[in-house]
Amino acid sequence: MTLTIVWFRRDFRLQDNTALYHAVKEAQHRKEPLLFMYHLDSAFTNKDTPNHRFFFAALDQFIKRCEKIGIFIHVVEGTWQEAFSQILDRFPEVSAIYYNKDEVGTGQKRDEEVDKHFYKNGIRVSSYMDYTIHGANDVKKEDGSIYKVFTPYYKKWMTQPKVDPFILKDEDLSLESIKDDTLYSKGQSILSNVNKFSDEKSIPHEESAMNVLDSFLKKRIDQYDRFRDIPSAEATSKLSVHLRTGTISARTVLYHIQEKQQSSYSTGMDTFIKELAWRDFYNMIYHHYADSKTREVDDKYQQLEWNNNPGLLEMWIKGTTGFPIVDAGMRQLAKEGWMHNRVRMITASFLTKDLLMDWRLGERYFEKMLHDYDEASNIGGWQWAASVGTDAVPYFRVFNPITQSNRYDSKGEYIKKYIPELAGVPEKYIHEPWKMEEHEQEEAGCIVGKDYPEPVVDHAIQRKRAIQMFQELK
Ligand code: FAD
Repeated sequence: MTLTIVWFRRDFRLQDNTALYHAVKEAQHRKEPLLFMYHLDSAFTNKDTPNHRFFFAALDQFIKRCEKIGIFIHVVEGTWQEAFSQILDRFPEVSAIYYNKDEVGTGQKRDEEVDKHFYKNGIRVSSYMDYTIHGANDVKKEDGSIYKVFTPYYKKWMTQPKVDPFILKDEDLSLESIKDDTLYSKGQSILSNVNKFSDEKSIPHEESAMNVLDSFLKKRIDQYDRFRDIPSAEATSKLSVHLRTGTISARTVLYHIQEKQQSSYSTGMDTFIKELAWRDFYNMIYHHYADSKTREVDDKYQQLEWNNNPGLLEMWIKGTTGFPIVDAGMRQLAKEGWMHNRVRMITASFLTKDLLMDWRLGERYFEKMLHDYDEASNIGGWQWAASVGTDAVPYFRVFNPITQSNRYDSKGEYIKKYIPELAGVPEKYIHEPWKMEEHEQEEAGCIVGKDYPEPVVDHAIQRKRAIQMFQELK
């Protein structure tokens, strides 16, 4: 008898998982068992960062939940070749493999090699576009070229037919899942030795993802367009960690919004759907600009000479630049592994335009820290803020951290939440504490230069320098 492998990657869910759905249906048809696996690449386990710890905690949680319903996911370590040779040594009868493919980064390259390898060995590969709503080659111009500007991309994206979620019934999931005791327990012990995020309540899983979506749909989506830019308002969905680990699919999120739209429409829903399209857009851009983790998509900016000052980078990382909104954002990231979108834009702009530091340094730091790290969106966000990407903020429109702070955190609630030193500073000075007179600093319990740093740069000067740096290349 032959058998089929289902290879989980960053899709830790049983519902609306394209590859799983098709594998289950095919196995039912052929009356065959399924062998579930996760390939643990040592290249990732060696990177002990908050990002990786969070991801491995989600994997661990998924495996435990699956085990409870008799689905056994074998964790196999090594390169992908080593992992599959362990599996195929034990199960030479494997005839097919199902997985959701990666369209970007090292995952994409690996998938190309994997496909060739299995094809050569007579094993059928069924791989699916699942991570995004539309794949990297699905939304194109009439002439077949890709969109480099978001708005026309989005208009076309909206017109493309959407796929409904792939739902498995309980009886579909009471399937025959092979358990190889030796391989399974080896995998368990490997995973138990990997450092994992330990705050049980925050580890994403399928049920919590649905709860987050339900509560967002009930309480916040209608106001999303009004409040999503206010970091203290907690008005966004916080679905990013779920989309990143795959505890929910973007397809399912869209489906539920569109279902709700039929009975109670709100403009917040449209704005939210647009954000899901941004995720697809950046996935598409990264697919077509495969080296954009290190190279600017806009090639005229590849020669920019960024500042190289480790001391400044350290201040930015620690949240001690003296610009409260920037420091609050960086401290939120360090504390929670997440940062509000508006503040991601402000902190990224500050690093690149105020400190004139290379956007790649910021991208790498966010990669290390973000629980919702998504390579395509992060690169897209950084290249956008640094004005070097496609459809990026123009280089001459430099974010002013003080104006941004005033506009989006007018009362300083977000700032005060993450910077306790500023708790006593009056609203009038919360965005520029250095403007307080000496006696006001004493009254506020915050001596600038002692309790909270002086601003590390003069924004007006740095703004001019940033613009000049770009203009010199023209
Ligand atoms: P919501 O506002 O509720 O949005 C819903 C979903 O839409 C998000 O979960 C996300 O999947 C998608 N989305 C929203 N905004 C964007 C956007 N600008 N680009 C792409 N997708 C978007 N998002 C990540 O998921 N991972 C990252 O590593 C990441 N890095 C970023 C770096 C920078 C410099 C910037 C400016 C943005 C980055 N973003 C990233 C986009 C955005 O900040 C987050 O998706 C958002 O803050 C996640 O919170 P949420 O789920 O509450 O968002």
